Amino acid sequence: MSHLVLRHLSKCFHRQGIPALKDLSLTVAAGEIFALLGPSGCGKSTTLNLIAGLLEPDPVPYPGEIWLDGILLNPLPPERRGVTLLSQYSRLFPHMSVGENVAFGLKMRRIPKAEREAQALRMLERVQLAGFAHRRPAQLSGGQAQRVALARALVIQPKLLLLDEPLSALDANLRQEMQNLILDLQAESGVTTVLVTHDQAEATAMAQRIGLMFEGQLHQVGSPAEFYQQPASERIARFFGGVNFFDAQADHHELWVGEGIRLFYGAVPQQGKVRLTIRPEQIQVFSHPPTFPHNVCRAEVISERFTGTQRRLTVQTALGLLQAWVAPHQGFGVGQVVWIHLPPEALWCVEGSRSVPILPLAV
Ligand code: ADP
Ligand code: MG
Repeated sequence: MSHLVLRHLSKCFHRQGIPALKDLSLTVAAGEIFALLGPSGCGKSTTLNLIAGLLEPDPVPYPGEIWLDGILLNPLPPERRGVTLLSQYSRLFPHMSVGENVAFGLKMRRIPKAEREAQALRMLERVQLAGFAHRRPAQLSGGQAQRVALARALVIQPKLLLLDEPLSALDANLRQEMQNLILDLQAESGVTTVLVTHDQAEATAMAQRIGLMFEGQLHQVGSPAEFYQQPASERIARFFGGVNFFDAQADHHELWVGEGIRLFYGAVPQQGKVRLTIRPEQIQVFSHPPTFPHNVCRAEVISERFTGTQRRLTVQTALGLLQAWVAPHQGFGVGQVVWIHLPPEALWCVEGSRSVPILPLAV
């Protein structure tokens, strides 16, 4: 299992233009699935292309370096890096059969014919396409073609697997299946994997750690749970579906909001003006005043939307409008007066005097 280190990667495509990548440093542990997440154009593909050797990092402001298992990859051509890149646009060779496509990398490595055919067949079995070895790529559906591309990528046992939005062209059900298949194959092979996606749900479902990028820079690196519970900024919270934000004056673990409302804050103590968030699914809603001593506000239901798994309430409170997502059996009517509980440990400060350190681990 291989360990990837990126140091000071920068890439500017146009002289004096806005850099696509600005001084990105990151470590991916051996065997890890790491997701690079961010909106379109933030530099995710550029990062993967640098690792794969399809692009070269800029020498300024610092010479960028890519290390895999302690070996500097920069001087190596793509085919000698032990790295495989699978993208949404991965094309199978149309003139070869599916089996030949999968065996192609082995042929390049001069593996004898019988052995490469056997390995290709085993890999096709793993992606549930054993019966398709003699077909042509044109006879496959989009999802099948992506499974063949995955088999072709993995059969050569790369040290590092790079997945650039490989599922974004598939419909929702297929995407779920492919996610599970990739997770199974990754667990079996233990291949260190960097997955690029713009979809926070996909990153959350697949990765052990996520690096969130905006405009060519990493803004937070952490576990999926950390992104939901401890986002480093309001922008990050919003990217992860955060909808509730309000300002307060903090004095240690006490927060003062609006006209003298006091809330208790469970995380690192704060001082001065702060901005807070709470996940909509962590607000509890009651039709009668609960007996909790703290962090309860009176509210009025403004709207209610049923999503199948939740009821999404918008409530008017002294803190402003908040969304509270409750269980589907909790029925509340529009106009109803309710009481909401904001658990102290669910409140999180996204901006303030002493909020969490933002930036990723230097290498
Ligand atoms: P992402 O994969 O996150 O959507 P990219 O890494 O593809 O983003 O692109 C980052 C930025 O670099 C974008 O502004 C994009 O237009 C620009 N860019 C990417 N590749 C090239 C290229 N070959 N030539 C010029 N600009 C490019
Ligand atoms: Mg891209």
